[in-house]
Amino acid sequence: VSDLFTFDEFITHWAEDRPERLALREEDRVYNYAELEDRTARVASALLAAGLVKGDRVAWIGKNSDLYFTLFFGAARAGIVMAPIGWRLSPAEWAFIVNDTRAKIVFTGPGFEAVPEQLAGKLAHDARIVGAGEARAMIDGAVRAPFEPSGRDDAVLQLYTSGTTGNPKGAVLSNHNLFALRKHSADSDLAYTKWEDDEAVLVAMPCAHIGGTGLGVMALVSGLPGVVLAEFNPDGVFDAVEQHGVTRFFIVPAALQMLLLHPRCASVDYSRLKYILYGAAPIPLELLRQCIKMFGAQFIQAYGMTETTGTICMLPPEDHDPEGNARMRSAGKPLPGVEVRILGPDGDDVPQGEVGEVVTRSSNNMIGYWNLPDATAKTMTADGWIHTGDAGYLDDDGYLFIHDRMKDMIISGGENVYPAEVESAIFGHPAVQEVAVIGIPDAKWGETVKAVCVAKPGMTVEEADIIAWARDRIAAFKAPRSVDVIDALPRNASGKILRKDLRAPYWEGYERMVN
Ligand code: ATP
Ligand code: MG
Repeated sequence: VSDLFTFDEFITHWAEDRPERLALREEDRVYNYAELEDRTARVASALLAAGLVKGDRVAWIGKNSDLYFTLFFGAARAGIVMAPIGWRLSPAEWAFIVNDTRAKIVFTGPGFEAVPEQLAGKLAHDARIVGAGEARAMIDGAVRAPFEPSGRDDAVLQLYTSGTTGNPKGAVLSNHNLFALRKHSADSDLAYTKWEDDEAVLVAMPCAHIGGTGLGVMALVSGLPGVVLAEFNPDGVFDAVEQHGVTRFFIVPAALQMLLLHPRCASVDYSRLKYILYGAAPIPLELLRQCIKMFGAQFIQAYGMTETTGTICMLPPEDHDPEGNARMRSAGKPLPGVEVRILGPDGDDVPQGEVGEVVTRSSNNMIGYWNLPDATAKTMTADGWIHTGDAGYLDDDGYLFIHDRMKDMIISGGENVYPAEVESAIFGHPAVQEVAVIGIPDAKWGETVKAVCVAKPGMTVEEADIIAWARDRIAAFKAPRSVDVIDALPRNASGKILRKDLRAPYWEGYERMVN
Protein backbone atom coordinates (compact mmCIF):
# COMPACT_ATOMS: atom_id res chain seq x y z
CA VAL A 1 0.00 0.00 0.00
CA SER A 2 3.03 2.27 0.01
CA ASP A 3 1.99 3.92 -3.29
CA LEU A 4 -1.55 4.67 -2.11
CA PHE A 5 -2.17 8.18 -0.81
CA THR A 6 -5.88 8.98 -0.85
CA PHE A 7 -9.32 7.57 -0.06
CA ASP A 8 -9.94 7.15 -3.76
CA GLU A 9 -6.74 5.15 -4.19
CA PHE A 10 -7.21 2.92 -1.14
CA ILE A 11 -10.84 2.14 -1.95
CA THR A 12 -10.27 1.33 -5.62
CA HIS A 13 -7.16 -0.69 -4.73
CA TRP A 14 -8.91 -3.01 -2.26
CA ALA A 15 -11.97 -3.31 -4.51
CA GLU A 16 -9.69 -4.77 -7.19
CA ASP A 17 -7.46 -6.74 -4.85
CA ARG A 18 -10.19 -8.33 -2.69
CA PRO A 19 -13.66 -7.47 -3.97
CA GLU A 20 -15.41 -10.15 -1.91
CA ARG A 21 -13.71 -9.34 1.39
CA LEU A 22 -15.91 -7.83 4.10
CA ALA A 23 -15.26 -4.09 4.35
CA LEU A 24 -17.94 -2.76 6.64
CA ARG A 25 -20.42 -4.32 9.02
CA GLU A 26 -23.05 -2.80 11.23
CA GLU A 27 -25.41 -5.33 12.73
CA ASP A 28 -26.79 -7.27 9.74
CA ARG A 29 -25.75 -4.73 7.12
CA VAL A 30 -22.56 -5.98 5.47
CA TYR A 31 -20.64 -4.56 2.54
CA ASN A 32 -17.65 -6.08 0.81
CA TYR A 33 -14.90 -3.97 -0.76
CA ALA A 34 -16.51 -4.07 -4.23
CA GLU A 35 -19.75 -2.76 -2.73
CA LEU A 36 -17.92 -0.16 -0.67
CA GLU A 37 -16.23 1.07 -3.84
CA ASP A 38 -19.51 1.27 -5.72
CA ARG A 39 -21.46 2.94 -2.91
CA THR A 40 -18.78 5.53 -2.14
CA ALA A 41 -18.48 6.38 -5.86
CA ARG A 42 -22.25 6.92 -5.85
CA VAL A 43 -21.96 9.22 -2.83
CA ALA A 44 -19.30 11.28 -4.59
CA SER A 45 -21.38 11.41 -7.77
CA ALA A 46 -24.57 12.37 -5.92
CA LEU A 47 -22.91 15.15 -3.91
CA LEU A 48 -21.31 16.63 -7.02
CA ALA A 49 -24.61 16.32 -8.92
CA ALA A 50 -26.27 18.21 -6.05
CA GLY A 51 -23.94 21.12 -6.76
CA LEU A 52 -21.29 20.60 -4.09
CA VAL A 53 -17.67 21.14 -5.08
CA LYS A 54 -14.29 20.15 -3.70
CA GLY A 55 -13.66 21.94 -0.40
CA ASP A 56 -17.36 22.15 0.54
CA ARG A 57 -18.37 20.80 3.94
CA VAL A 58 -21.01 18.27 4.85
CA ALA A 59 -21.84 17.33 8.44
CA TRP A 60 -23.13 14.22 10.22
CA ILE A 61 -25.23 14.20 13.37
CA GLY A 62 -25.80 10.66 14.52
CA LYS A 63 -24.37 7.61 16.17
CA ASN A 64 -21.78 5.46 14.47
CA SER A 65 -23.18 3.84 11.36
CA ASP A 66 -22.19 2.09 8.15
CA LEU A 67 -24.05 5.00 6.53
CA TYR A 68 -21.69 7.50 8.16
CA PHE A 69 -18.59 5.72 6.88
CA THR A 70 -20.09 5.35 3.39
CA LEU A 71 -20.89 9.08 3.25
CA PHE A 72 -17.52 10.10 4.71
CA PHE A 73 -15.44 7.85 2.44
CA GLY A 74 -17.53 8.83 -0.61
CA ALA A 75 -17.30 12.57 0.10
CA ALA A 76 -13.57 12.22 0.78
CA ARG A 77 -13.00 10.54 -2.59
CA ALA A 78 -14.19 13.78 -4.21
CA GLY A 79 -12.55 16.15 -1.72
CA ILE A 80 -15.79 17.11 0.02
CA VAL A 81 -15.01 17.50 3.69
CA MET A 82 -17.00 15.53 6.29
CA ALA A 83 -17.51 17.05 9.73
CA PRO A 84 -19.02 14.49 12.12
CA ILE A 85 -20.66 16.09 15.16
CA GLY A 86 -20.98 14.42 18.55
CA TRP A 87 -24.54 13.14 18.92
CA ARG A 88 -24.40 13.55 22.69
CA LEU A 89 -23.99 17.32 22.35
CA SER A 90 -27.03 19.56 22.83
CA PRO A 91 -28.88 21.03 19.82
CA ALA A 92 -27.33 24.41 20.65
CA GLU A 93 -23.88 22.81 20.47
CA TRP A 94 -24.80 21.04 17.20
CA ALA A 95 -25.84 24.42 15.81
CA PHE A 96 -22.57 26.02 16.93
CA ILE A 97 -20.59 23.41 14.99
CA VAL A 98 -22.87 23.30 11.92
CA ASN A 99 -22.63 27.09 11.71
CA ASP A 100 -18.88 26.91 12.14
CA THR A 101 -18.52 24.41 9.28
CA ARG A 102 -21.01 26.22 7.00
CA ALA A 103 -21.95 22.70 5.85
CA LYS A 104 -24.11 22.58 2.72
CA ILE A 105 -25.74 19.34 3.84
CA VAL A 106 -26.26 17.99 7.35
CA PHE A 107 -26.78 14.23 7.25
CA THR A 108 -28.52 12.71 10.24
CA GLY A 109 -28.27 9.15 11.48
CA PRO A 110 -31.05 6.69 12.29
CA GLY A 111 -33.02 7.88 15.31
CA PHE A 112 -32.20 11.54 14.73
CA GLU A 113 -35.39 12.42 12.85
CA ALA A 114 -36.03 15.40 15.14
CA VAL A 115 -32.85 17.26 14.16
CA PRO A 116 -34.64 19.59 11.68
CA GLU A 117 -36.94 20.81 14.48
CA GLN A 118 -34.10 20.89 17.00
CA LEU A 119 -32.00 23.08 14.71
CA ALA A 120 -34.90 25.26 13.52
CA GLY A 121 -34.05 28.94 13.86
CA LYS A 122 -30.50 28.17 15.01
CA LEU A 123 -28.67 27.95 11.69
CA ALA A 124 -26.88 30.96 10.29
CA HIS A 125 -26.80 29.68 6.71
CA ASP A 126 -28.85 27.52 4.34
CA ALA A 127 -28.15 23.89 5.08
CA ARG A 128 -30.17 20.97 3.76
CA ILE A 129 -30.90 18.41 6.44
CA VAL A 130 -30.99 14.90 5.00
CA GLY A 131 -32.32 12.00 7.06
CA ALA A 132 -30.90 8.48 7.04
CA GLY A 133 -33.64 7.03 4.81
CA GLU A 134 -33.25 9.81 2.26
CA ALA A 135 -29.46 9.40 2.31
CA ARG A 136 -29.68 5.65 1.67
CA ALA A 137 -32.13 6.32 -1.18
CA MET A 138 -29.72 8.94 -2.54
CA ILE A 139 -26.91 6.37 -2.61
CA ASP A 140 -29.06 3.61 -4.14
CA GLY A 141 -30.48 5.91 -6.78
CA ALA A 142 -27.30 7.76 -7.71
CA VAL A 143 -25.84 7.45 -11.18
CA ARG A 144 -22.08 6.89 -11.14
CA ALA A 145 -20.32 9.70 -12.94
CA PRO A 146 -16.60 10.30 -13.37
CA PHE A 147 -15.16 12.75 -10.85
CA GLU A 148 -11.80 14.25 -10.05
CA PRO A 149 -10.48 12.51 -6.92
CA SER A 150 -9.09 14.52 -4.03
CA GLY A 151 -5.33 14.82 -3.84
CA ARG A 152 -2.88 13.81 -1.13
CA ASP A 153 -2.94 17.19 0.60
CA ASP A 154 -6.61 18.05 0.13
CA ALA A 155 -8.80 18.35 3.22
CA VAL A 156 -11.21 15.44 3.71
CA LEU A 157 -12.19 15.45 7.37
CA GLN A 158 -12.95 18.17 9.88
CA LEU A 159 -12.94 16.87 13.44
CA TYR A 160 -13.85 19.02 16.38
CA THR A 161 -11.70 18.85 19.50
CA SER A 162 -13.47 17.57 22.58
CA GLY A 163 -13.97 21.02 24.05
CA THR A 164 -12.39 19.95 27.34
CA THR A 165 -10.64 23.28 27.75
CA GLY A 166 -12.92 25.66 25.81
CA ASN A 167 -15.05 25.79 22.66
CA PRO A 168 -14.42 22.88 20.30
CA LYS A 169 -12.18 23.80 17.39
CA GLY A 170 -12.41 22.24 13.92
CA ALA A 171 -9.16 20.46 13.07
CA VAL A 172 -8.91 20.16 9.29
CA LEU A 173 -7.28 16.90 8.19
CA SER A 174 -6.06 15.80 4.78
CA ASN A 175 -5.71 12.44 3.04
CA HIS A 176 -2.03 12.64 3.96
CA ASN A 177 -2.80 13.25 7.65
CA LEU A 178 -5.07 10.23 7.79
CA PHE A 179 -2.99 7.80 5.76
CA ALA A 180 0.74 8.57 5.88
CA LEU A 181 1.48 7.43 9.42
CA ARG A 182 -1.27 4.82 9.52
CA LYS A 183 -0.08 2.98 6.43
CA HIS A 184 3.51 3.26 7.60
CA SER A 185 2.57 1.69 10.93
CA ALA A 186 0.46 -1.00 9.28
CA ASP A 187 3.42 -1.87 7.04
CA SER A 188 6.12 -1.70 9.71
CA ASP A 189 7.72 -4.64 11.43
CA LEU A 190 6.32 -3.57 14.82
CA ALA A 191 4.05 -6.54 15.52
CA TYR A 192 1.54 -4.44 17.41
CA THR A 193 1.02 -1.87 14.66
CA LYS A 194 1.08 -4.40 11.82
CA TRP A 195 -2.27 -5.94 11.04
CA GLU A 196 -2.47 -9.58 10.04
CA ASP A 197 -4.72 -10.57 7.19
CA ASP A 198 -7.24 -12.36 9.41
CA GLU A 199 -7.98 -9.35 11.59
CA ALA A 200 -11.06 -7.20 12.02
CA VAL A 201 -11.32 -3.95 13.91
CA LEU A 202 -14.17 -2.61 16.02
CA VAL A 203 -15.24 1.03 15.84
CA ALA A 204 -16.47 1.44 19.40
CA MET A 205 -15.89 5.11 20.20
CA PRO A 206 -17.95 7.93 18.67
CA CYS A 207 -17.21 8.78 15.04
CA ALA A 208 -17.04 12.46 15.94
CA HIS A 209 -13.65 11.68 17.47
CA ILE A 210 -10.49 10.36 15.89
CA GLY A 211 -10.71 7.33 18.23
CA GLY A 212 -13.89 6.36 16.34
CA THR A 213 -13.45 7.59 12.77
CA GLY A 214 -9.71 6.81 12.83
CA LEU A 215 -10.35 3.12 13.50
CA GLY A 216 -12.61 2.94 10.46
CA VAL A 217 -9.80 4.46 8.41
CA MET A 218 -7.40 1.91 9.91
CA ALA A 219 -9.57 -0.94 8.57
CA LEU A 220 -9.44 0.64 5.11
CA VAL A 221 -5.67 1.08 5.24
CA SER A 222 -5.21 -2.67 5.68
CA GLY A 223 -8.15 -3.81 3.55
CA LEU A 224 -9.76 -5.44 6.58
CA PRO A 225 -13.29 -5.45 7.94
CA GLY A 226 -14.42 -2.54 10.09
CA VAL A 227 -17.17 -3.60 12.47
CA VAL A 228 -19.23 -0.62 13.57
CA LEU A 229 -20.91 -0.32 16.95
CA ALA A 230 -23.60 2.36 16.89
CA GLU A 231 -22.60 3.39 20.37
CA PHE A 232 -20.26 2.00 23.01
CA ASN A 233 -21.87 -0.58 25.25
CA PRO A 234 -20.20 -3.55 26.94
CA ASP A 235 -22.51 -6.15 25.38
CA GLY A 236 -21.83 -4.75 21.92
CA VAL A 237 -18.08 -5.06 22.48
CA PHE A 238 -18.36 -8.59 23.90
CA ASP A 239 -20.60 -9.71 21.02
CA ALA A 240 -18.25 -8.22 18.44
CA VAL A 241 -15.34 -10.13 19.97
CA GLU A 242 -17.19 -13.44 20.26
CA GLN A 243 -19.27 -13.36 17.07
CA HIS A 244 -17.72 -11.00 14.54
CA GLY A 245 -14.09 -11.94 14.79
CA VAL A 246 -12.97 -8.57 16.08
CA THR A 247 -9.26 -8.76 16.91
CA ARG A 248 -8.69 -5.16 18.07
CA PHE A 249 -10.60 -2.28 19.50
CA PHE A 250 -9.82 1.11 20.90
CA ILE A 251 -11.67 2.51 23.92
CA VAL A 252 -11.10 5.20 26.54
CA PRO A 253 -10.25 4.37 30.18
CA ALA A 254 -13.79 5.14 31.40
CA ALA A 255 -15.13 2.59 28.89
CA LEU A 256 -12.58 -0.02 30.01
CA GLN A 257 -13.91 0.38 33.51
CA MET A 258 -17.47 -0.17 32.25
CA LEU A 259 -16.35 -3.43 30.62
CA LEU A 260 -14.72 -4.56 33.87
CA LEU A 261 -17.81 -3.78 35.94
CA HIS A 262 -20.09 -5.71 33.58
CA PRO A 263 -21.26 -9.12 34.85
CA ARG A 264 -20.49 -10.77 31.47
CA CYS A 265 -16.88 -9.59 31.46
CA ALA A 266 -15.28 -12.62 33.10
CA SER A 267 -17.04 -15.21 30.95
CA VAL A 268 -16.49 -13.79 27.45
CA ASP A 269 -14.43 -15.85 25.00
CA TYR A 270 -11.49 -13.58 24.21
CA SER A 271 -9.58 -16.15 22.19
CA ARG A 272 -9.70 -14.18 18.91
CA LEU A 273 -8.98 -10.83 20.53
CA LYS A 274 -5.35 -9.79 20.06
CA TYR A 275 -5.02 -6.20 21.18
CA ILE A 276 -6.90 -3.72 23.31
CA LEU A 277 -5.91 -0.15 22.56
CA TYR A 278 -6.73 2.47 25.13
CA GLY A 279 -5.94 6.14 25.61
CA ALA A 280 -7.28 9.66 25.02
CA ALA A 281 -7.12 10.34 28.77
CA PRO A 282 -4.80 9.36 31.61
CA ILE A 283 -5.52 5.86 32.92
CA PRO A 284 -5.32 5.05 36.63
CA LEU A 285 -2.59 2.43 37.11
CA GLU A 286 -4.83 0.21 39.21
CA LEU A 287 -7.49 0.15 36.49
CA LEU A 288 -4.86 -0.90 33.96
CA ARG A 289 -3.62 -3.65 36.27
CA GLN A 290 -7.15 -4.98 36.72
CA CYS A 291 -7.67 -4.98 32.95
CA ILE A 292 -4.44 -6.84 32.26
CA LYS A 293 -5.53 -9.51 34.71
CA MET A 294 -9.03 -9.76 33.28
CA PHE A 295 -8.66 -9.75 29.50
CA GLY A 296 -6.86 -12.36 27.47
CA ALA A 297 -5.41 -9.75 25.15
CA GLN A 298 -2.35 -7.58 24.84
CA PHE A 299 -2.57 -3.92 25.73
CA ILE A 300 -1.41 -0.90 23.77
CA GLN A 301 -1.67 2.65 25.06
CA ALA A 302 -2.24 5.38 22.50
CA TYR A 303 -1.42 9.04 23.00
CA GLY A 304 -2.43 11.77 20.65
CA MET A 305 -4.94 14.48 19.99
CA THR A 306 -7.43 15.57 17.35
CA GLU A 307 -4.85 17.99 15.97
CA THR A 308 -2.41 15.11 15.38
CA THR A 309 -5.04 12.94 13.65
CA GLY A 310 -4.95 10.72 16.70
CA THR A 311 -2.17 8.46 17.84
CA ILE A 312 1.42 9.65 17.66
CA CYS A 313 2.87 7.63 20.56
CA MET A 314 2.20 4.04 21.55
CA LEU A 315 3.13 2.03 24.61
CA PRO A 316 3.70 -1.50 23.28
CA PRO A 317 2.37 -4.67 24.90
CA GLU A 318 5.81 -5.67 26.25
CA ASP A 319 5.82 -2.59 28.48
CA HIS A 320 2.60 -3.69 30.18
CA ASP A 321 4.08 -5.74 32.97
CA PRO A 322 1.67 -5.33 35.88
CA GLU A 323 4.39 -6.29 38.38
CA GLY A 324 5.48 -2.77 39.14
CA ASN A 325 6.95 -1.93 35.75
CA ALA A 326 7.47 1.85 35.87
CA ARG A 327 7.04 2.03 32.10
CA MET A 328 3.38 1.23 32.53
CA ARG A 329 2.92 4.86 33.51
CA SER A 330 4.27 5.96 30.14
CA ALA A 331 2.23 6.99 27.11
CA GLY A 332 4.81 5.17 25.01
CA LYS A 333 7.32 5.88 22.30
CA PRO A 334 6.80 8.15 19.28
CA LEU A 335 5.77 6.10 16.26
CA PRO A 336 8.34 5.97 13.45
CA GLY A 337 8.31 9.33 11.70
CA VAL A 338 6.99 11.24 14.70
CA GLU A 339 9.18 13.84 16.41
CA VAL A 340 8.55 14.76 20.04
CA ARG A 341 10.30 17.49 22.01
CA ILE A 342 9.77 18.89 25.50
CA LEU A 343 9.94 22.66 25.81
CA GLY A 344 10.32 24.90 28.84
CA PRO A 345 8.43 28.16 29.40
CA ASP A 346 11.08 30.07 27.40
CA GLY A 347 10.51 27.83 24.37
CA ASP A 348 13.86 26.01 24.64
CA ASP A 349 14.26 22.25 25.00
CA VAL A 350 14.45 21.23 28.66
CA PRO A 351 17.17 18.80 29.79
CA GLN A 352 16.31 15.10 29.36
CA GLY A 353 13.93 13.89 32.06
CA GLU A 354 12.58 17.32 32.96
CA VAL A 355 8.93 18.22 32.63
CA GLY A 356 7.79 20.73 30.04
CA GLU A 357 5.28 21.15 27.24
CA VAL A 358 5.08 18.31 24.76
CA VAL A 359 5.45 19.52 21.18
CA THR A 360 5.34 17.26 18.15
CA ARG A 361 5.81 17.18 14.41
CA SER A 362 4.78 14.49 11.95
CA SER A 363 2.77 13.81 8.82
CA ASN A 364 -0.21 13.50 11.18
CA ASN A 365 -0.20 17.18 12.09
CA MET A 366 -3.42 18.85 10.91
CA ILE A 367 -3.59 21.43 8.14
CA GLY A 368 -4.90 23.89 10.75
CA TYR A 369 -8.03 24.89 12.64
CA TRP A 370 -10.97 25.83 10.46
CA ASN A 371 -11.45 29.59 10.32
CA LEU A 372 -9.32 30.21 13.43
CA PRO A 373 -6.03 31.65 12.13
CA ASP A 374 -5.02 32.99 15.56
CA ALA A 375 -5.67 29.71 17.35
CA THR A 376 -3.83 27.87 14.55
CA ALA A 377 -0.82 30.17 14.85
CA LYS A 378 -0.79 29.70 18.62
CA THR A 379 -0.94 25.92 18.37
CA MET A 380 1.20 25.23 15.33
CA THR A 381 4.52 26.90 14.56
CA ALA A 382 5.49 27.95 11.04
CA ASP A 383 7.84 24.99 10.79
CA GLY A 384 5.10 22.55 11.70
CA TRP A 385 5.43 21.85 15.45
CA ILE A 386 2.17 21.40 17.34
CA HIS A 387 2.01 22.59 20.93
CA THR A 388 -0.06 19.94 22.69
CA GLY A 389 -0.75 21.87 25.90
CA ASP A 390 0.19 18.66 27.72
CA ALA A 391 2.91 18.55 30.37
CA GLY A 392 5.28 15.63 30.13
CA TYR A 393 8.84 14.39 29.92
CA LEU A 394 10.96 11.94 27.94
CA ASP A 395 13.01 9.30 29.77
CA ASP A 396 16.45 8.04 28.75
CA ASP A 397 14.95 5.44 26.45
CA GLY A 398 12.73 7.91 24.63
CA TYR A 399 9.50 6.99 26.41
CA LEU A 400 7.05 9.84 26.79
CA PHE A 401 5.41 10.34 30.18
CA ILE A 402 2.32 12.55 30.12
CA HIS A 403 1.67 14.25 33.41
CA ASP A 404 -1.44 16.15 32.54
CA ARG A 405 -2.71 19.15 30.72
CA MET A 406 -0.66 22.20 31.64
CA LYS A 407 -3.91 24.04 32.43
CA ASP A 408 -4.84 21.43 35.05
CA MET A 409 -1.51 21.50 36.85
CA ILE A 410 -1.86 22.56 40.47
CA ILE A 411 0.80 24.84 41.92
CA SER A 412 0.70 24.38 45.67
CA GLY A 413 3.30 26.13 47.79
CA GLY A 414 5.57 26.32 44.75
CA GLU A 415 5.34 22.58 44.07
CA ASN A 416 3.79 21.29 40.85
CA VAL A 417 1.11 18.67 41.34
CA TYR A 418 -0.37 16.79 38.40
CA PRO A 419 -3.97 15.72 39.06
CA ALA A 420 -3.65 12.49 37.05
CA GLU A 421 -0.99 11.15 39.41
CA VAL A 422 -3.08 11.91 42.48
CA GLU A 423 -6.18 10.43 40.86
CA SER A 424 -4.27 7.30 40.00
CA ALA A 425 -3.22 6.91 43.64
CA ILE A 426 -6.72 7.43 45.02
CA PHE A 427 -8.42 5.30 42.38
CA GLY A 428 -7.21 2.09 44.03
CA HIS A 429 -9.14 2.85 47.23
CA PRO A 430 -11.81 0.16 47.66
CA ALA A 431 -14.68 2.63 48.23
CA VAL A 432 -13.86 4.87 45.25
CA GLN A 433 -15.65 4.42 41.96
CA GLU A 434 -14.36 7.57 40.29
CA VAL A 435 -12.16 10.44 41.32
CA ALA A 436 -11.10 13.81 39.94
CA VAL A 437 -8.45 16.04 41.45
CA ILE A 438 -8.42 19.82 41.14
CA GLY A 439 -6.66 22.81 42.65
CA ILE A 440 -8.74 25.14 44.81
CA PRO A 441 -7.72 28.61 45.99
CA ASP A 442 -5.83 28.82 49.26
CA ALA A 443 -4.56 31.91 51.04
CA LYS A 444 -1.36 30.29 52.27
CA TRP A 445 -0.39 27.87 49.47
CA GLY A 446 -1.88 29.61 46.44
CA GLU A 447 -3.74 26.44 45.55
CA THR A 448 -4.35 23.25 47.46
CA VAL A 449 -5.23 19.81 46.21
CA LYS A 450 -8.85 18.72 46.42
CA ALA A 451 -10.17 15.29 45.51
CA VAL A 452 -13.75 14.94 44.33
CA CYS A 453 -14.87 11.33 44.67
CA VAL A 454 -17.80 9.22 43.58
CA ALA A 455 -18.40 6.32 45.99
CA LYS A 456 -18.96 2.75 44.84
CA PRO A 457 -22.60 1.71 45.20
CA GLY A 458 -23.36 0.99 48.86
CA MET A 459 -20.02 2.32 50.11
CA THR A 460 -19.03 5.47 51.97
CA VAL A 461 -16.03 7.63 51.16
CA GLU A 462 -14.47 9.22 54.27
CA GLU A 463 -12.31 12.31 53.83
CA ALA A 464 -9.69 11.39 56.45
CA ASP A 465 -9.44 7.88 55.06
CA ILE A 466 -8.81 9.08 51.47
CA ILE A 467 -6.20 11.58 52.63
CA ALA A 468 -4.39 8.89 54.63
CA TRP A 469 -4.60 6.45 51.70
CA ALA A 470 -3.07 9.04 49.36
CA ARG A 471 -0.31 9.98 51.83
CA ASP A 472 0.73 6.33 51.97
CA ARG A 473 1.24 6.30 48.24
CA ILE A 474 2.42 9.72 47.08
CA ALA A 475 4.35 12.66 48.51
CA ALA A 476 2.46 14.56 51.23
CA PHE A 477 2.30 17.78 49.19
CA LYS A 478 0.48 15.88 46.40
CA ALA A 479 -2.08 14.28 48.71
CA PRO A 480 -5.46 16.03 48.88
CA ARG A 481 -6.08 18.40 51.80
CA SER A 482 -9.81 18.01 51.38
CA VAL A 483 -12.21 15.53 49.82
CA ASP A 484 -15.72 16.09 48.49
CA VAL A 485 -18.14 13.35 47.52
CA ILE A 486 -20.57 13.82 44.64
CA ASP A 487 -22.93 11.55 42.68
CA ALA A 488 -21.21 11.69 39.30
CA LEU A 489 -18.26 13.51 37.76
CA PRO A 490 -18.99 16.03 35.02
CA ARG A 491 -17.71 14.56 31.75
CA ASN A 492 -17.92 15.73 28.18
CA ALA A 493 -19.34 13.65 25.35
CA SER A 494 -16.02 11.84 24.91
CA GLY A 495 -16.01 10.75 28.55
CA LYS A 496 -13.32 13.19 29.65
CA ILE A 497 -13.57 14.72 33.09
CA LEU A 498 -14.37 18.43 32.90
CA ARG A 499 -12.03 19.70 35.60
CA LYS A 500 -12.82 23.25 34.47
CA ASP A 501 -16.47 22.74 35.52
CA LEU A 502 -15.48 21.01 38.75
CA ARG A 503 -13.18 23.90 39.63
CA ALA A 504 -15.69 26.66 38.85
CA PRO A 505 -17.69 26.76 42.12
CA TYR A 506 -14.52 26.84 44.24
CA TRP A 507 -13.01 29.66 42.22
CA GLU A 508 -15.93 32.08 42.34
CA GLY A 509 -14.48 35.49 43.12
CA TYR A 510 -10.90 34.32 42.52
CA GLU A 511 -8.71 34.50 39.44
CA ARG A 512 -6.87 31.30 38.50
CA MET A 513 -3.54 31.88 36.77
CA VAL A 514 -4.29 29.43 33.98
CA ASN A 515 -7.88 28.58 33.21
P1 ATP B 1 -10.00 20.62 23.71
O1 ATP B 1 -8.74 20.68 22.93
O2 ATP B 1 -11.17 21.13 22.92
O3 ATP B 1 -9.91 21.22 25.07
P2 ATP B 1 -9.38 17.81 24.15
O4 ATP B 1 -7.96 18.27 24.22
O5 ATP B 1 -9.89 16.96 25.26
O6 ATP B 1 -10.37 19.06 23.98
P3 ATP B 1 -8.89 15.75 22.20
O7 ATP B 1 -8.15 16.16 20.99
O8 ATP B 1 -9.98 14.75 22.04
O9 ATP B 1 -9.60 17.04 22.78
O10 ATP B 1 -7.92 15.18 23.31
C1 ATP B 1 -6.51 15.29 23.28
C2 ATP B 1 -5.96 15.32 24.68
O11 ATP B 1 -6.29 14.12 25.40
C3 ATP B 1 -4.46 15.39 24.76
O12 ATP B 1 -3.98 16.70 24.57
C4 ATP B 1 -4.19 14.86 26.18
O13 ATP B 1 -4.39 15.86 27.15
C5 ATP B 1 -5.27 13.81 26.34
N1 ATP B 1 -4.71 12.45 26.08
C6 ATP B 1 -4.76 11.77 24.91
N2 ATP B 1 -4.15 10.57 25.02
C7 ATP B 1 -3.71 10.46 26.29
C8 ATP B 1 -3.00 9.46 27.03
N3 ATP B 1 -2.64 8.30 26.48
N4 ATP B 1 -2.69 9.73 28.32
C9 ATP B 1 -3.05 10.90 28.89
N5 ATP B 1 -3.72 11.88 28.25
C10 ATP B 1 -4.06 11.68 26.97
MG1 MG C 1 -6.95 19.72 23.10
